[in-house]
Amino acid sequence: MATRRQTFRLYPSKVQEKALLAARRLHCYLYNACVSHRETEYKLHRRTVAYFEQQNLLPEFKQVWVEYAQLHSQSLQATVKRVDGAYQRFFQGLSKKPHFKSIRKYSGWTYPAQSGWKVNSTGKYGTVTLNDLGITLKMRGQAKHWGVPTTLTIVHRPSRRQWFASFTVDVAIPEPKLGSQSDLRYESIVAYDLGTETALTLFDGAEFQEIANPRFTQRSEAKIRKLAKLKRRKRAPEKGVKASRRWRKIHQRESRLQAKVARQRKDWQHKVTSEIAGRYDIGVTEKLNVKGMTRKGGKRKAGLNKSILSVGFGTLNQMLTYKIEQKGGLVLVLPTKTIKPSQRCPKCGAVHKDWAELNNRYHVCSACGFEVLRDRGSVMVMYNVATHQQPGLRTSLVSLGCLSTTSKTRHSRQRRVATTGSMKQLGQRKRQKSRRQVDGETPSADAVG
Ligand SMILES: [Zn+2]
Repeated sequence: MATRRQTFRLYPSKVQEKALLAARRLHCYLYNACVSHRETEYKLHRRTVAYFEQQNLLPEFKQVWVEYAQLHSQSLQATVKRVDGAYQRFFQGLSKKPHFKSIRKYSGWTYPAQSGWKVNSTGKYGTVTLNDLGITLKMRGQAKHWGVPTTLTIVHRPSRRQWFASFTVDVAIPEPKLGSQSDLRYESIVAYDLGTETALTLFDGAEFQEIANPRFTQRSEAKIRKLAKLKRRKRAPEKGVKASRRWRKIHQRESRLQAKVARQRKDWQHKVTSEIAGRYDIGVTEKLNVKGMTRKGGKRKAGLNKSILSVGFGTLNQMLTYKIEQKGGLVLVLPTKTIKPSQRCPKCGAVHKDWAELNNRYHVCSACGFEVLRDRGSVMVMYNVATHQQPGLRTSLVSLGCLSTTSKTRHSRQRRVATTGSMKQLGQRKRQKSRRQVDGETPSADAVG
């Protein structure tokens, strides 16, 4: 079983939208009440309020504020859980201290299990009924993978005045047809590397393929900058002051443009990854640390970071992995530290420390004279390792710690945040990782939770 997220656009009537807006408002107030509770408790008693404490207070809360009695109790718990998640991320140093959310920025609420709502759809169009609000909403959209929907999140995009129903769906995936190492068929192996100049560099043993970075963001950036400049001259919303109509108009245009860029990016990612996953059964790549790549370096690396983010590095990698696995293939994630694909000569195996510098795009091996473009060199090394042809390395994938199937090390941080408290499904279903881990590095301490 794999979990996929499927989102449909909702088309509420005027009356229905009123009910949705009212429910969103209540959830927003609850969120802020929980933040306030934690703040006050800490200021007075230097004590951290646990998730369960707040969850157990909900019945009393509902007695005082009767409006909440009509809302589904698990969805209220899920909102409390959101606060807990925000605090857990803060405690781990992953994000800033949670603050009150304005209704303008509050996106919606979640039904964390299969009760309280009902969906009537075969994956294309349909309706969804929210029992607590007593409304049945029309949905439009088409799911790529459809199965048993397990959770539902209602999302509102205020600037676009749009509503969405986002389901997590349990989807059956085929058993990997490539079970053991001896089954690896070399003719359909592809090694790939994500880069900044060329978004993807591929090598399948015979030929290279380079897929250029589309740079949507850069192209639209001028337009967005222009709108932002116009917006600065209008009256922005402040405490007690409404935004001017002109400000809102420009704000809407800006957010539409950003949404367009996001759609273009997603479309491009799907096209590229589907094409590759259609051709190959085995993907080979190295462990990628996008967060580390994009955070450090300050202004000096800002341009580089922008192009990394504009391709959507992490997503591209994830899509490729799940699409290959969806059809029964396999993705090997090589341990970067042991193999050093970007520093190793694919011909003789010599490791050159100076190759690691980012501005060094063309590599000449001082040991054997082999010349290669940097990105091409590293995919060649990865391909060679997977096919046991790389000189200078123990050639068995097993001895490198590859081909084990413990997939718990990736995304362990998010998962740990999500599993504190009772409603594991909230975060876990979102983040279930199907990636087959072949990483030789030992899992860190927080990965075991
Ligand atoms: Zn060499």
